[in-house]
Amino acid sequence: MSIGEIIYSYLPAKRKQTPSGWVKFNAICCHHNGTTADTRQRGGMIQNGDGISYHCFNCGYKASYQPGRHLTRKMRHLLSWMGAPDDVINKITLEALKIQSDEQALEAVSIPKFEARALPEGAKSLEEWSTWIELQGWENTDQDLINVFCYLRNNRSLDPYAYPYYWTSKMGYKNRVIIPFYKDGVIVGHTARAINDAKPKYISDQTPGYVFNLDKQTQDKEFVIVSEGPMDALSIDGVAVLGADIMDKQALQLNRLGRRVIVVPDRDADGKRTVEQAIANRYSVSMPNWPEGVKDINDAVHKLGKLTALYLIVTAAESNELKIKLRTKAWF
Ligand SMILES: [Zn+2]
Repeated sequence: MSIGEIIYSYLPAKRKQTPSGWVKFNAICCHHNGTTADTRQRGGMIQNGDGISYHCFNCGYKASYQPGRHLTRKMRHLLSWMGAPDDVINKITLEALKIQSDEQALEAVSIPKFEARALPEGAKSLEEWSTWIELQGWENTDQDLINVFCYLRNNRSLDPYAYPYYWTSKMGYKNRVIIPFYKDGVIVGHTARAINDAKPKYISDQTPGYVFNLDKQTQDKEFVIVSEGPMDALSIDGVAVLGADIMDKQALQLNRLGRRVIVVPDRDADGKRTVEQAIANRYSVSMPNWPEGVKDINDAVHKLGKLTALYLIVTAAESNELKIKLRTKAWF
Protein backbone atom coordinates (compact mmCIF):
# COMPACT_ATOMS: atom_id res chain seq x y z
CA MET A 1 0.00 0.00 0.00
CA SER A 2 1.19 3.48 -0.78
CA ILE A 3 1.41 6.10 1.99
CA GLY A 4 -1.66 7.85 0.55
CA GLU A 5 -3.64 4.60 0.68
CA ILE A 6 -2.55 3.93 4.27
CA ILE A 7 -3.68 7.42 5.33
CA TYR A 8 -6.94 6.90 3.46
CA SER A 9 -7.58 3.61 5.24
CA TYR A 10 -7.85 5.41 8.60
CA LEU A 11 -10.75 7.63 7.52
CA PRO A 12 -13.89 7.29 9.65
CA ALA A 13 -16.24 4.54 8.46
CA LYS A 14 -19.14 6.94 8.22
CA ARG A 15 -18.31 9.02 5.19
CA LYS A 16 -19.59 9.93 1.77
CA GLN A 17 -18.03 10.56 -1.58
CA THR A 18 -18.86 13.81 -3.39
CA PRO A 19 -18.90 14.19 -7.20
CA SER A 20 -15.91 16.57 -7.00
CA GLY A 21 -13.70 13.85 -5.53
CA TRP A 22 -13.81 14.88 -1.89
CA VAL A 23 -14.66 12.32 0.76
CA LYS A 24 -16.71 14.00 3.48
CA PHE A 25 -17.01 12.93 7.11
CA ASN A 26 -17.28 14.44 10.57
CA ALA A 27 -13.96 16.16 11.08
CA ILE A 28 -11.75 14.53 13.72
CA CYS A 29 -9.52 17.57 14.31
CA CYS A 30 -11.70 20.28 15.79
CA HIS A 31 -11.78 19.49 19.51
CA HIS A 32 -7.96 19.10 19.44
CA ASN A 33 -7.83 22.69 18.24
CA GLY A 34 -10.24 24.21 20.79
CA THR A 35 -13.28 24.21 18.48
CA THR A 36 -16.57 22.44 19.01
CA ALA A 37 -16.66 18.99 17.47
CA ASP A 38 -17.99 18.78 13.94
CA THR A 39 -21.35 17.09 13.41
CA ARG A 40 -22.04 18.31 9.85
CA GLN A 41 -19.45 16.33 7.89
CA ARG A 42 -17.22 19.31 7.35
CA GLY A 43 -14.01 17.28 7.21
CA GLY A 44 -12.79 16.45 3.69
CA MET A 45 -10.08 14.29 2.21
CA ILE A 46 -9.10 14.30 -1.45
CA GLN A 47 -6.54 12.32 -3.41
CA ASN A 48 -4.40 14.22 -5.88
CA GLY A 49 -2.19 11.94 -7.90
CA ASP A 50 -0.28 9.80 -5.43
CA GLY A 51 -0.74 12.46 -2.76
CA ILE A 52 -3.54 13.19 -0.33
CA SER A 53 -4.97 16.37 1.26
CA TYR A 54 -7.12 16.89 4.31
CA HIS A 55 -9.14 20.05 4.89
CA CYS A 56 -11.48 20.83 7.76
CA PHE A 57 -14.13 23.46 7.00
CA ASN A 58 -15.07 23.62 10.67
CA CYS A 59 -11.81 24.52 12.47
CA GLY A 60 -9.66 25.17 9.42
CA TYR A 61 -7.11 22.39 10.04
CA LYS A 62 -5.19 21.35 6.93
CA ALA A 63 -2.70 18.57 6.29
CA SER A 64 -1.37 16.98 3.15
CA TYR A 65 1.15 14.52 1.87
CA GLN A 66 2.88 14.33 -1.51
CA PRO A 67 5.40 11.61 -2.44
CA GLY A 68 8.87 13.19 -2.40
CA ARG A 69 8.02 15.28 0.68
CA HIS A 70 8.34 14.30 4.31
CA LEU A 71 5.29 13.41 6.42
CA THR A 72 4.44 16.69 8.14
CA ARG A 73 3.76 17.09 11.86
CA LYS A 74 0.19 18.09 10.99
CA MET A 75 -0.35 14.90 8.97
CA ARG A 76 1.10 12.81 11.83
CA HIS A 77 -1.30 14.49 14.28
CA LEU A 78 -4.20 13.87 11.94
CA LEU A 79 -3.30 10.20 11.65
CA SER A 80 -3.14 9.82 15.40
CA TRP A 81 -6.53 11.57 15.81
CA MET A 82 -7.96 9.14 13.24
CA GLY A 83 -6.74 6.31 15.44
CA ALA A 84 -3.63 5.17 13.57
CA PRO A 85 -1.23 3.44 16.00
CA ASP A 86 2.16 5.09 16.67
CA ASP A 87 4.11 2.28 15.02
CA VAL A 88 2.16 2.77 11.77
CA ILE A 89 2.76 6.54 11.90
CA ASN A 90 6.47 6.00 12.54
CA LYS A 91 6.70 3.46 9.74
CA ILE A 92 5.16 5.72 7.10
CA THR A 93 7.18 8.71 8.37
CA LEU A 94 10.34 6.71 7.62
CA GLU A 95 8.92 5.47 4.33
CA ALA A 96 8.23 9.10 3.26
CA LEU A 97 11.83 10.02 4.06
CA LYS A 98 13.10 7.09 2.03
CA ILE A 99 10.97 8.08 -0.99
CA GLN A 100 12.24 11.64 -0.57
CA SER A 101 15.90 10.63 -0.60
CA ASP A 102 15.33 8.25 -3.53
CA GLU A 103 13.77 11.09 -5.51
CA GLN A 104 16.65 13.39 -4.65
CA ALA A 105 19.17 10.73 -5.66
CA LEU A 106 17.31 10.24 -8.94
CA GLU A 107 17.29 14.00 -9.52
CA ALA A 108 21.07 14.09 -8.97
CA VAL A 109 21.71 11.60 -11.76
CA SER A 110 19.17 12.71 -14.33
CA ILE A 111 20.16 14.89 -17.27
CA PRO A 112 19.11 18.47 -16.53
CA LYS A 113 16.95 20.54 -18.87
CA PHE A 114 18.98 23.22 -20.58
CA GLU A 115 16.94 26.31 -21.32
CA ALA A 116 17.76 29.33 -23.47
CA ARG A 117 19.80 32.00 -21.70
CA ALA A 118 20.81 35.45 -22.85
CA LEU A 119 24.40 36.48 -23.50
CA PRO A 120 25.77 39.63 -21.81
CA GLU A 121 24.19 42.84 -23.10
CA GLY A 122 25.45 44.03 -26.47
CA ALA A 123 27.18 40.76 -27.33
CA LYS A 124 27.70 40.14 -31.06
CA SER A 125 29.54 37.33 -32.78
CA LEU A 126 33.06 38.05 -34.08
CA GLU A 127 31.62 37.45 -37.54
CA GLU A 128 29.22 40.39 -37.00
CA TRP A 129 31.96 42.50 -35.44
CA SER A 130 34.27 41.93 -38.40
CA THR A 131 31.57 43.26 -40.75
CA TRP A 132 31.23 46.23 -38.41
CA ILE A 133 35.02 46.76 -38.50
CA GLU A 134 35.03 46.72 -42.30
CA LEU A 135 32.43 49.48 -42.33
CA GLN A 136 33.89 51.60 -39.52
CA GLY A 137 37.59 51.01 -40.16
CA TRP A 138 40.21 49.59 -37.82
CA GLU A 139 41.14 53.04 -36.52
CA ASN A 140 37.64 53.41 -35.08
CA THR A 141 37.60 49.94 -33.58
CA ASP A 142 37.85 49.35 -29.84
CA GLN A 143 41.35 48.07 -29.02
CA ASP A 144 39.86 45.41 -26.74
CA LEU A 145 37.98 43.91 -29.68
CA ILE A 146 41.15 43.78 -31.76
CA ASN A 147 42.89 42.16 -28.78
CA VAL A 148 40.24 39.43 -28.69
CA PHE A 149 40.96 38.49 -32.32
CA CYS A 150 44.71 38.49 -31.62
CA TYR A 151 44.29 36.51 -28.41
CA LEU A 152 42.41 33.70 -30.15
CA ARG A 153 44.78 33.53 -33.13
CA ASN A 154 48.13 34.18 -31.51
CA ASN A 155 47.81 32.99 -27.92
CA ARG A 156 45.38 30.13 -28.44
CA SER A 157 45.89 29.03 -32.05
CA LEU A 158 42.11 29.16 -32.49
CA ASP A 159 40.42 30.42 -35.65
CA PRO A 160 38.19 33.33 -34.50
CA TYR A 161 35.51 32.21 -36.96
CA ALA A 162 35.63 28.44 -36.40
CA TYR A 163 33.29 28.79 -33.41
CA PRO A 164 30.74 31.56 -32.77
CA TYR A 165 32.80 33.50 -30.24
CA TYR A 166 31.15 36.71 -29.03
CA TRP A 167 32.32 40.07 -27.74
CA THR A 168 30.64 43.05 -26.08
CA SER A 169 31.84 46.51 -25.10
CA LYS A 170 29.85 46.23 -21.87
CA MET A 171 31.86 47.19 -18.77
CA GLY A 172 33.49 44.19 -17.15
CA TYR A 173 33.33 42.22 -20.41
CA LYS A 174 35.45 44.31 -22.79
CA ASN A 175 38.63 42.34 -22.06
CA ARG A 176 36.92 38.96 -22.46
CA VAL A 177 36.02 36.55 -25.20
CA ILE A 178 32.53 35.16 -24.73
CA ILE A 179 32.12 31.49 -25.51
CA PRO A 180 28.42 30.59 -25.86
CA PHE A 181 27.21 27.17 -24.74
CA TYR A 182 24.90 25.48 -27.23
CA LYS A 183 22.35 22.73 -26.79
CA ASP A 184 20.50 21.63 -29.93
CA GLY A 185 21.49 24.90 -31.59
CA VAL A 186 20.17 27.11 -28.77
CA ILE A 187 22.41 29.23 -26.52
CA VAL A 188 21.90 27.84 -23.01
CA GLY A 189 24.73 29.63 -21.19
CA HIS A 190 28.20 31.03 -21.70
CA THR A 191 31.55 31.71 -20.19
CA ALA A 192 33.43 34.97 -20.68
CA ARG A 193 37.15 34.32 -20.44
CA ALA A 194 39.60 37.11 -19.64
CA ILE A 195 42.18 37.64 -22.37
CA ASN A 196 44.59 39.18 -19.86
CA ASP A 197 45.34 38.60 -16.17
CA ALA A 198 41.97 40.00 -15.06
CA LYS A 199 40.19 38.22 -12.24
CA PRO A 200 38.07 36.22 -12.27
CA LYS A 201 39.50 34.31 -15.19
CA TYR A 202 36.00 33.14 -16.16
CA ILE A 203 32.58 34.78 -15.70
CA SER A 204 30.03 32.10 -16.42
CA ASP A 205 26.30 31.55 -16.60
CA GLN A 206 25.23 27.96 -16.97
CA THR A 207 23.01 25.15 -15.73
CA PRO A 208 25.08 22.70 -13.67
CA GLY A 209 25.69 19.48 -15.55
CA TYR A 210 26.28 21.07 -18.93
CA VAL A 211 28.85 19.38 -21.19
CA PHE A 212 30.49 21.84 -23.56
CA ASN A 213 30.60 21.03 -27.32
CA LEU A 214 28.55 17.83 -26.96
CA ASP A 215 26.43 18.87 -29.97
CA LYS A 216 29.51 18.53 -32.18
CA GLN A 217 30.18 14.91 -31.31
CA THR A 218 28.98 13.37 -34.56
CA GLN A 219 28.07 9.72 -35.00
CA ASP A 220 31.18 8.83 -36.99
CA LYS A 221 33.66 9.44 -34.19
CA GLU A 222 35.17 6.45 -32.39
CA PHE A 223 35.99 8.22 -29.16
CA VAL A 224 35.33 11.46 -27.34
CA ILE A 225 38.09 13.48 -25.69
CA VAL A 226 37.08 15.10 -22.42
CA SER A 227 38.94 18.13 -21.07
CA GLU A 228 38.45 20.76 -18.38
CA GLY A 229 38.22 23.97 -20.39
CA PRO A 230 36.22 25.02 -23.46
CA MET A 231 39.33 26.15 -25.33
CA ASP A 232 40.92 22.73 -24.83
CA ALA A 233 37.76 21.16 -26.24
CA LEU A 234 37.66 23.54 -29.22
CA SER A 235 41.34 22.88 -29.98
CA ILE A 236 40.72 19.21 -30.75
CA ASP A 237 36.93 19.00 -31.30
CA GLY A 238 36.40 17.35 -27.93
CA VAL A 239 34.10 18.21 -25.04
CA ALA A 240 34.72 20.02 -21.76
CA VAL A 241 33.22 19.41 -18.33
CA LEU A 242 34.00 23.06 -17.42
CA GLY A 243 36.03 22.35 -14.31
CA ALA A 244 38.10 19.61 -12.72
CA ASP A 245 35.04 17.55 -11.76
CA ILE A 246 33.10 15.10 -13.90
CA MET A 247 29.60 15.39 -12.44
CA ASP A 248 27.24 12.39 -12.50
CA LYS A 249 24.87 14.36 -14.75
CA GLN A 250 27.75 14.92 -17.16
CA ALA A 251 28.86 11.28 -17.07
CA LEU A 252 25.33 10.25 -18.08
CA GLN A 253 25.56 12.42 -21.19
CA LEU A 254 29.05 11.15 -22.04
CA ASN A 255 27.92 7.53 -21.63
CA ARG A 256 25.00 8.15 -23.98
CA LEU A 257 27.42 8.79 -26.82
CA GLY A 258 28.19 5.09 -26.67
CA ARG A 259 31.87 5.37 -27.50
CA ARG A 260 35.25 5.29 -25.80
CA VAL A 261 35.67 8.24 -23.43
CA ILE A 262 39.23 9.54 -23.09
CA VAL A 263 39.76 12.00 -20.26
CA VAL A 264 42.73 14.36 -20.50
CA PRO A 265 43.28 16.02 -17.12
CA ASP A 266 44.94 19.37 -16.70
CA ARG A 267 48.46 18.93 -15.38
CA ASP A 268 47.81 20.63 -12.03
CA ALA A 269 46.70 19.72 -8.50
CA ASP A 270 42.98 19.55 -9.42
CA GLY A 271 43.78 17.30 -12.37
CA LYS A 272 44.39 14.41 -9.96
CA ARG A 273 40.78 14.63 -8.89
CA THR A 274 39.69 14.48 -12.53
CA VAL A 275 41.69 11.24 -12.92
CA GLU A 276 40.02 9.67 -9.87
CA GLN A 277 36.58 10.51 -11.23
CA ALA A 278 37.51 9.17 -14.67
CA ILE A 279 38.55 5.86 -13.07
CA ALA A 280 35.30 5.73 -11.08
CA ASN A 281 33.40 6.07 -14.38
CA ARG A 282 35.61 3.46 -16.10
CA TYR A 283 36.84 5.98 -18.64
CA SER A 284 40.24 5.91 -20.31
CA VAL A 285 42.72 8.51 -19.13
CA SER A 286 45.42 10.07 -21.26
CA MET A 287 48.44 11.73 -19.65
CA PRO A 288 50.62 12.34 -22.72
CA ASN A 289 54.30 13.18 -22.82
CA TRP A 290 53.63 16.87 -23.20
CA PRO A 291 56.59 19.16 -23.90
CA GLU A 292 58.00 21.19 -21.01
CA GLY A 293 55.57 23.86 -19.79
CA VAL A 294 52.45 22.37 -21.38
CA LYS A 295 49.63 22.26 -18.85
CA ASP A 296 46.59 21.42 -20.95
CA ILE A 297 45.38 20.44 -24.43
CA ASN A 298 45.20 23.99 -25.74
CA ASP A 299 48.84 24.60 -24.69
CA ALA A 300 49.81 21.42 -26.50
CA VAL A 301 47.97 22.35 -29.71
CA HIS A 302 49.50 25.83 -29.55
CA LYS A 303 53.02 24.36 -29.28
CA LEU A 304 52.74 21.22 -31.41
CA GLY A 305 49.76 21.67 -33.72
CA LYS A 306 46.44 19.85 -33.61
CA LEU A 307 47.45 16.58 -35.31
CA THR A 308 50.51 15.97 -33.15
CA ALA A 309 48.61 16.82 -29.98
CA LEU A 310 45.78 14.46 -30.97
CA TYR A 311 48.25 11.70 -31.79
CA LEU A 312 49.91 12.07 -28.38
CA ILE A 313 46.54 12.01 -26.61
CA VAL A 314 45.22 8.93 -28.36
CA THR A 315 48.44 6.90 -28.09
CA ALA A 316 48.75 7.70 -24.37
CA ALA A 317 45.12 6.74 -23.60
CA GLU A 318 45.06 4.04 -20.94
CA SER A 319 42.08 2.08 -19.66
CA ASN A 320 43.77 -0.16 -17.09
CA GLU A 321 43.15 1.25 -13.63
CA LEU A 322 46.50 0.19 -12.17
CA LYS A 323 48.44 1.62 -15.10
CA ILE A 324 46.48 4.89 -14.84
CA LYS A 325 47.36 5.13 -11.15
CA LEU A 326 51.07 4.46 -11.80
CA ARG A 327 51.09 7.04 -14.56
CA THR A 328 49.36 9.57 -12.29
CA LYS A 329 52.25 9.33 -9.80
CA ALA A 330 54.83 10.06 -12.48
CA TRP A 331 52.88 12.66 -14.44
CA PHE A 332 51.70 15.20 -11.87
ZN1 LIG B 1 -11.55 20.55 12.44
